[in-house]
Order: sequence, then C-alpha cells, then structure tokens
Amino acid sequence: MDCGMFFVVGKDCTYKSLMCHEMGHALQWFWGPLFVFIALWSAGRYWWREFYEAVIYPRNKKPLPPYDSIWFEREATQWGWNKCGKFYDAAE
Ligand SMILES: [Zn+2]
Repeated sequence: MDCGMFFVVGKDCTYKSLMCHEMGHALQWFWGPLFVFIALWSAGRYWWREFYEAVIYPRNKKPLPPYDSIWFEREATQWGWNKCGKFYDAAE
C-alpha cells in the first residue's frame, strides 16, 4: 500500500474503509495533473472541517455536510471499494 502521499483521513473511519478510500484517491491519479488540485482541495477541506468543528460549530450549531458529499471524496470511496472491498470481504 502506498502511504507515501499526504492523504488525510477522517477520525471516525475504520481501518478498512480508510484503506479503501485512500486507495480510491490513489486511483484518482487517473485524473493526471488535475489530481494535484483534488489532493490539495481534499487536504484543505479536511483541515477546514477540523477547524470548523473545533471553533465554528460550537457557536453556530450548523452541522457540516457528510464527508463524502463532495464529488472527489465520494469518487475515492466508490473507486476504492470497487477495487479492494471484495478483497477485504474475502479476507475476513
Ligand atoms: Zn479522501
């Protein structure tokens, strides 16, 4: 598993869904140069959500949309599960 890239993950992910999701991001290299933009956006969005939940949410009480509500996170989850979901199910 290539963990050398600076993927960031949600705290509430299980190891299995996490690995699949990150594999999905690896598959997103398919997008080529655009993936750099996706990766930066994904990382920035992650830290924004951390900041929001720590600082803004306690004041305005407006929950954030689900993590996969943005297309490139949803795509990473879907592509990753297509690739490795079966593998994990078979291994269990
Ligand atoms: Zn992601």
